Amino acid sequence: MKNNAFCYKLITWYESNKRELPFRNTTDSYKIWLSEIILQQTRVAQGLSYYERFVKKFPTVGDLAAQSEETILKEWQGLGYYSRARNLHHTAKYVVENYQSIFPTSYTELIKLKGIGDYTASAISSFSSKEVRPVLDGNVYRFIARLYGVETPINTPKSVKEFKLILEELIDKDKPDIFNQAIIEFGALHCVPSSPSCDSCIFQESCFAFSKKRVNEFPVKLKKKKSIERYVNFMAIQQKEGVWLVKRTADAIWKNLYEFPNLESEQMYTSEQHNELDKIGVKISRVAMPIKHVLSHQNIYAKLFICEPTKDFTPEVDWVFVPNIQFRNYPIHRLMEKMMESELKGEINF
Ligand code: SF4
Repeated sequence: MKNNAFCYKLITWYESNKRELPFRNTTDSYKIWLSEIILQQTRVAQGLSYYERFVKKFPTVGDLAAQSEETILKEWQGLGYYSRARNLHHTAKYVVENYQSIFPTSYTELIKLKGIGDYTASAISSFSSKEVRPVLDGNVYRFIARLYGVETPINTPKSVKEFKLILEELIDKDKPDIFNQAIIEFGALHCVPSSPSCDSCIFQESCFAFSKKRVNEFPVKLKKKKSIERYVNFMAIQQKEGVWLVKRTADAIWKNLYEFPNLESEQMYTSEQHNELDKIGVKISRVAMPIKHVLSHQNIYAKLFICEPTKDFTPEVDWVFVPNIQFRNYPIHRLMEKMMESELKGEINF
């Protein structure tokens, strides 16, 4: 299909089918950046309230930069992938210090910022200043792979170049912002992963996958490696109206978030192995039902022990005692939230 006809059809479809989303009505690159970071790996329905809260509490990049990292992590709580929040804060401070608090709008400046990759830089630069930069997210990959029958697996580096070449041909050079919004929206609402609406599709006649009855075969993906299984035994050690927490410092997903002190084991602890906790000087008063928490490349099986300290209790140096009433001020990760919700509601002021 010629690109003019493609753009006309796509944009016409978009104008009458798009969702009304607050970050689509702005050209403020700071707000667009916030929305893009919040919506990475997050559904719009879940991310929307976070976006609205961030914009209200931190209306400018300077307001965001002035917060402590702990405040940002607390605001982010529940969204997961906390490195996004840490990068958000780092980048806000960087923009204040190096760009006089004016959030960049050009791809070449944006791509230099921490937490901003090709997709986000293309999205922000096209939405805020109409730079002709095609966006390539999961929705676009799926739609283009089906439309053109692209067999290259989309989770390989080589696919980026191939799909970008197609999009560079297609993109509306006068309205790159609307084109990008429209193509993402078409993948998100119409050419969806399972049971796309092919019968009512405006591109049906030119769609390779539809004509070959191979819609479910696209996009092609290489099989992922098997997830690692981990077994973690958490201890809610309650003492004098408070509980012990530890801050995660390892450079991994939950860095700088708090959790109960814990021991990792090869397998889920059986009741005979519970005396492993005696070595720490705690007495188990209750054991909660194990919880499975699924991350992108690991499954964590968490067992929560509600414990009391004995006379031999010696906390590790990096443990902090947190009075119940202050507990809510400490940013915690999603698995901690799950354990608290199912087992400790009411016992700690959460
Ligand atoms: Fe997607 Fe079906 Fe339309 Fe092809 S015909 S673009 S597979 S919705």
